[in-house]
Amino acid sequence: MAEVLVYVDHVDGAVRKPTLELLALARRIGEPVAVFLGAGADTAAPTLAEYGATKVLAAEVPAFDAYLVAPKVDALQAAYEAVSPAAVLVPSSAEGKEIAARLAVRTGSGLITDAVDLEAGEEGSVATQSVFAAAFTTKSLVSRGTPVITVKPNSAAPEVAPAAGAVEQLAVTVADASKGTEVVSRTPRESTGRPELTEAAIVVSGGRGLNGRENFHLIESLADSVGAAVGASRAAVDAGWYPHANQVGQTGKSVSPQLYVAVGISGAIQHRAGMQTSKTIVAVNKDAEAPIFDLVDYGVVGDLFEVVPQLTEEISAR
Ligand code: FAD
Repeated sequence: MAEVLVYVDHVDGAVRKPTLELLALARRIGEPVAVFLGAGADTAAPTLAEYGATKVLAAEVPAFDAYLVAPKVDALQAAYEAVSPAAVLVPSSAEGKEIAARLAVRTGSGLITDAVDLEAGEEGSVATQSVFAAAFTTKSLVSRGTPVITVKPNSAAPEVAPAAGAVEQLAVTVADASKGTEVVSRTPRESTGRPELTEAAIVVSGGRGLNGRENFHLIESLADSVGAAVGASRAAVDAGWYPHANQVGQTGKSVSPQLYVAVGISGAIQHRAGMQTSKTIVAVNKDAEAPIFDLVDYGVVGDLFEVVPQLTEEISAR
């Protein structure tokens, strides 16, 4: 069976959930081989093996931390040359997309970004994408080289599928480590204790209907009651009620959670572009004609200032 490279996203060896999702998708088209870059391969290997990695190609060179993505692309290319994979899967983070694009250029391969599903086809791996502000769903096939595919978080459920997952060291030559860029400092963002917006299984977003920054605590409390991330519409962000990092939509982040709750959001096309692929969509809006209701699985027509506190109280009581 053909091997499929899976680029591992991790924090000091703790494998992030999008990578486990990629392993599940990789198993549909071949045998997953994990590529682990940086410190902590031995910590990560048991998890990667549990979720289906047949082996773990690991490399650790100081250049990974000191520079931006170029050395990681060198290492991924080394894995690519060692394995000659049927496809390369990379998480659709900002870094992942840059790494994937550079690898595709270097290997003369076709690139598909932001896939939301993946299946084996007669002529190769078929990726599903949501395009043109989510107006269309397309299925794409790479016709040249090896498909390099980035996949949005929450596109598949992680599946336990124990495999060998032995760690093999990858010989990596970092050609020109800096490639003109060097990391001079890192400032971790203050943690809110909530999951990362693009990776969260549940997202609760607030819009202009909140009527002010001071009311966003209603969204935060509801989010915390279900372990969700907090999102915001552009209207709320432009008004300065919530940071741009939390904006969902065409000019914000694209999310695809199991559950998306839109509160006081009308459902403009640019907002839909960032959340339309969510598995279940719930809206709370006082206007029964709001366009968001064309999209929802469950809709509550009502005043958010009454509905949201009741909802939070009910959930918290369980
Ligand atoms: P509104 O459209 O004003 O809707 C507020 C809603 O709250 C209404 O439906 C109202 O009925 C409801 N409401 C009011 N009070 C209550 C209450 N008490 N209880 C319940 N419901 C209530 N938008 C994004 O979100 N993300 C983007 O990335 C984005 N990118 C854009 C890019 C471009 C190029 C352009 C032109 C626009 C973009 N927009 C984006 C803006 C987008 O067009 C909308 O203006 C925006 O999404 C509206 O935000 P909203 O739904 O919060 O506000």
